[in-house]
Amino acid sequence: RKAEYAALRNMPATSRDGVDVQLYMNAGLTVDLPHLDETGADGIGLFRTELQFMVSSTMPRLAAQIELYAHVLNAAGDRPVIFRTLDVGGDKVLPYMVGQREENPALGWRAIRLVLDRPALLRYQLRALLIAAGGRTLSVMFPMVADVAEFRQARQILEVERRRLERMGQTLPVNIRIGTMLEVPALAYQLPALLPLVDFISVGSNDLLQFFFAADRGNPKVSSRYDLLAPSALKLLRDVCAACTAAGVSISLCGEMAGRPLEAMALIGLGFRSVSMNAVSIGPVKAMLRSLDVGQCRAYIDTLIEGPDRTLRGKLESFARDHG
Ligand code: PEP
Ligand code: MG
Repeated sequence: RKAEYAALRNMPATSRDGVDVQLYMNAGLTVDLPHLDETGADGIGLFRTELQFMVSSTMPRLAAQIELYAHVLNAAGDRPVIFRTLDVGGDKVLPYMVGQREENPALGWRAIRLVLDRPALLRYQLRALLIAAGGRTLSVMFPMVADVAEFRQARQILEVERRRLERMGQTLPVNIRIGTMLEVPALAYQLPALLPLVDFISVGSNDLLQFFFAADRGNPKVSSRYDLLAPSALKLLRDVCAACTAAGVSISLCGEMAGRPLEAMALIGLGFRSVSMNAVSIGPVKAMLRSLDVGQCRAYIDTLIEGPDRTLRGKLESFARDHG
């Protein structure tokens, strides 16, 4: 199958009924970059910047951050890259940063919450990103935003840094696209206020659905109790996708479910036209897409989503089997 997936690298990511889907790759370290060419990914839909901070024994300096981000942009060339600002705290602890133990780290002082309280960290990182992307497009998004005010605050810090560099005569990005992860259910109900402010949204389904079902994604005692293909979860994803699409805001999904062919099929049926996944999943998902009739899939999901099924997994598996 590996050879079969490699052969797909240069084939279009288009369904049987002619629907194009952007297939992006998730990355976080320089070792991931060769996979861009190997897989034929359309770009990097999620660059997890915290990995550089986690593998380092001291806080990465500005120069080291700039070097990494510039390297990523060089490797990507014309392909877009979305950098996510630091997603640390909770269970992603940095050895050189003192934090308190928390009862519920997933719900605790992490990601955007942490850097808004320690804005120097965010300012430095945004400065590094602005410098690294000088003369190019910079796409940046913030993790774990639960409230539009947090997004505004983070965006304001970016704007202050941009102006500061401009005054210093630094070459700035020719275009800055600002987005947010959608990982907290509350944000899904703030879209009317959020959408006019953002250039794009990326659904972090790992966190979004663990909070939606209130079930720790890493705890095997509960993680198998809920299914990502439950109608309730699919309705949430469908509604978010529809609202973004109607507002002309790019919408993508970068959680693990995007890399599983059956889940990816459901997402495309729900309206997603862009997904980002681990490099190894691009081949299998593209193979699925090329044999999929999106119109049929969408109609099938529509008939089931308001029905009594606990999960659509079984029926979608049968659909996938029966339709190639
Ligand atoms: C997610 O929550 O779906 C996501 C992509 O972020 P991470 O897995 O890094 O928490
Ligand atoms: Mg997350």
